[in-house]
Amino acid sequence: MSALPNSIEARDAAYQLHPLVDLKAYEKTGGLVIERGEGVYVFDNSGKRYIEGLAGLWSVAVGFGEKRLSDVAKAQMDKLPYYHIFSGKTHGPSVELAEKLVHMAPVPMSKVHFTSSGSEANDLVVKLCWYRSNALGKPEKKKIIGRQKGYHGVTIAAGSITGLPRNHQSFDLPLPQMRHTLCPDYAGTALPGESERDFSGRMAAELEKLILEEGPDTVAAFFGEPVMASGGVFVPPEGYWQEIQAVLRKYDVLLVADEVICGFGRTGQMFGSQTYGIEPDVMVLSKQLSSSYLPLSAILMNESFYEPIARESERLGTFGHGFTASGHPVATAVGLENLKIIEERDLVGNCRERSPLFLRRLAELSQHPLGKGFRGVGLIGALELKPRETPGAAGAALAEAALEEGLIGRSIGDAFCLCPPLIITDEEVNAMFDALARALDKIA
Ligand code: PLP
Repeated sequence: MSALPNSIEARDAAYQLHPLVDLKAYEKTGGLVIERGEGVYVFDNSGKRYIEGLAGLWSVAVGFGEKRLSDVAKAQMDKLPYYHIFSGKTHGPSVELAEKLVHMAPVPMSKVHFTSSGSEANDLVVKLCWYRSNALGKPEKKKIIGRQKGYHGVTIAAGSITGLPRNHQSFDLPLPQMRHTLCPDYAGTALPGESERDFSGRMAAELEKLILEEGPDTVAAFFGEPVMASGGVFVPPEGYWQEIQAVLRKYDVLLVADEVICGFGRTGQMFGSQTYGIEPDVMVLSKQLSSSYLPLSAILMNESFYEPIARESERLGTFGHGFTASGHPVATAVGLENLKIIEERDLVGNCRERSPLFLRRLAELSQHPLGKGFRGVGLIGALELKPRETPGAAGAALAEAALEEGLIGRSIGDAFCLCPPLIITDEEVNAMFDALARALDKIA
């Protein structure tokens, strides 16, 4: 439907370039205008209420309208709205949050560097890996391995590690240093009769083959999301991370856990790395770190990652990197308060307690005549639909019908993905799946 002249929808279409839409089609319609939020709900400009089944973009852990966060932001704005951490300066909120993250980390970590988005953080990790390899006198050790369907952001290096064609096409990506190994999609790609363990072994053997083909001395790091989310929610099969880590250790390849979505409770433990026994050298955090109330991300690195970097900066006389907004005082103050809320209200425990109902309702809907299967852990999941003639058409139809029924989720291909705020109650989980069931019936 075309937007009414001068409406906010029409002005949106006239003035903004939006991600993940057909830009030409969007010029006629504009977007759905979301005006306010409260708990697990958001409201559009006609007053219609939606359950935010994706927590915004997999991120609003504490729900919408959390006054403690707006109060802290206002207080910090009044006290010191901005300062930087360049050239020997620092400030309290960034120090407190860095200390807290090092103490929360599931494996020994040594230093934190703040950034503003997941993409920026992953991009910088690539730079740090390269700087570190140079520092170690291994200038040829620069290749980075990601996975098909992995998602690490859209900046030039992060977008290159991402394994989704739509993020590469016509952008001249990926960079020549990047490689991709297989996506651990057990349900979709297991061989007939192959057990989860055997499948995991095969994934690890493929990774080893790739490292050997490239030459282990040329491979710096492997990036992986503990649970792959934006590619369509792929939960690792049994033994997967153990097998992958054994290969990485064998060839001295760093492991970067991209916890941008899994971090802070999504999988039922504080970090996805704990759920799957991952021992990363570097962790990338964002989204639920501040519940996305303000842009914030963080890179956590262990001592053996950090130390050569520090030595190189001593040799060069400076560490030649820094973002204006790194450790922004308002964003880090909000992040700190957000983590306090997650801990005080035991939102990780809430995730564990709501998860059985969440997964049971997902499993039930997969038995719908349009359902093909489901994947999930904690409070993140996907309902896989039987494909229509055009791939992705079934998923898109369900997302549209869900919207009509007052539910916002995300269709990725023919998977309909859910990742609600961690504050969700059983009643709200049921309301979310009731809406999804009505939407399925509507398009059947
Ligand atoms: N890494 C992961 C695992 C993500 O899911 C995302 C975003 O969805 C990113 C990185 C990129 O984060 P941003 O959109 O903040 O750049």
